[in-house]
Amino acid sequence: MSKVIMEPSRQIPILDEADVVVIGSGPAGHSAAVAAARSGAGKVILVERYNHLGGMATGGFVLLVPHLSFGGTIMSGGLQQEWIDRMEKLNYGAVGPTKESVGSVDPELIQKWAGYWGFVLNDNINYGAYLDPDQLKVVLDEMINEQGEKITTYLHGWAVGAVMDGDAIKGVIIESKEGRQAIMGKVVIDCTGDADICAFAGGGFDEDRDKSLRSASMAAVYRLGGVDFKHFADWKVKNFKEWYEVHMANMAKITGFKMSPHATPRNDQCWINNWIPKYCLNIKDLTSVDMSVRKTMYEAIDYLKENIPGFKDAFLIDIAPQTGTRGSRRIHGMYKLTKDDLDNTYAHEDTISVVPPFNFGVCQTPTEIPYRVMVPVKIENLLVAGRSFSSSHEANDWSNLIPHCANLGHAAGVAAAIAIKDGTSVRDVNIQKVQTVLKDQNTYLPR
Ligand SMILES: Cc1cc2nc3c(=O)[nH]c(=O)nc-3n(C[C@H](O)[C@H](O)[C@H](O)COP(=O)(O)OP(=O)(O)OC[C@H]3O[C@@H](n4cnc5c(N)ncnc54)[C@H](O)[C@@H]3O)c2cc1C
Repeated sequence: MSKVIMEPSRQIPILDEADVVVIGSGPAGHSAAVAAARSGAGKVILVERYNHLGGMATGGFVLLVPHLSFGGTIMSGGLQQEWIDRMEKLNYGAVGPTKESVGSVDPELIQKWAGYWGFVLNDNINYGAYLDPDQLKVVLDEMINEQGEKITTYLHGWAVGAVMDGDAIKGVIIESKEGRQAIMGKVVIDCTGDADICAFAGGGFDEDRDKSLRSASMAAVYRLGGVDFKHFADWKVKNFKEWYEVHMANMAKITGFKMSPHATPRNDQCWINNWIPKYCLNIKDLTSVDMSVRKTMYEAIDYLKENIPGFKDAFLIDIAPQTGTRGSRRIHGMYKLTKDDLDNTYAHEDTISVVPPFNFGVCQTPTEIPYRVMVPVKIENLLVAGRSFSSSHEANDWSNLIPHCANLGHAAGVAAAIAIKDGTSVRDVNIQKVQTVLKDQNTYLPR
């Protein structure tokens, strides 16, 4: 056993209380808070450890919201669609195919978008958008502020514990510049991405990983200016083998990990995605990811400038303020999504979202996500939305993207509001009511 010290017990002041307390403000947490407020929860509290809302989608510079359609059908809607609609109104807020072009096999359109990862899938136009992360921070603030006093937001608050009464969660403990304080709630929604609250509460979870999967890797994303992305994208489509086998391999030799440029709403900017096989719940790994990317970044940029069309004048704009975390704990929930769910067609009575098919060769129908993936087996009054939902690592890898997490958060917020209004638990919430409200709020549901 490693060395330990004893921490004396102490009284903790209660900072605030609410009907619904959401911890973490990524795609899941932001959606949960907005949805709870819009669906009639009395008071909602949103807690985030950093100084902005949006999680990976803003602070992590994960600029791509992909995979929102299948064939000609848009399968997202809800709050995720609202992000895109609002961002499209801004100067350089969003770029992507129009809704009308979804499913098109028009060769001109295919050629236009082929070099933009995510927009051409299965030989037709797939709906998605690249969003500007700083403007998205402002839009996400607006969506919260529009709810007025219904939502209280605490930035700079790091949740570090759960307040329990047996197996029922009653609140969370946060640390901030004010010290250690409690926030009490009738329902807590854990949107930390890492199931921190569920773990503090004593709920079970899996952490097994397959290092070959993207969700087992971390990242430190940065943005470049002075690029001609369209030029690069067109070149890459025509020279994919060379790009992949020669240049990506050479850059991996320089940096020690795989990296690749992706689009932004501005043609003269791109973001550099990277995949580093480290674990985001390990402090040494977290440190090493950030420092190793910064150590080799200039050499990698020089390689792009000297070898890749479109990068001659490239320069570093900024480095993502949040370390890129793709996967960690996955809770033990009332339903566990597995690869079998992706490979087959299952209809659930409690479906609250769908994931359009990725692996077309195997399954041509969307995967229905049941509400139960967010309900922990053991803990009461708790929902877990976002990438740590109950799933195997293979299933999670396909279905923890921004839109999937936003949809889970949306459903969790609606469910919390309805459970409180009806005086039931989130475990026993009237799921038909949840589905009706989700439909009214423009969410795509199969039935
Ligand atoms: C480099 C990279 C590239 C990716 N590429 C894509 C892509 O192209 N398209 C796509 O759709 N998805 C992509 N993903 C995946 C996607 O970004 C995430 O799966 C998604 O953002 C998860 O959403 P979330 O709300 O569950 O968690 P997160 O976005 O991780 O948000 C969690 C939030 O909770 C906060 N938080 C965590 N712990 C605490 C705590 N204890 N107290 C208070 N606050 C806390 C965090 O600060 C954060 O704001 C990528 C991920 C990475 C890292």
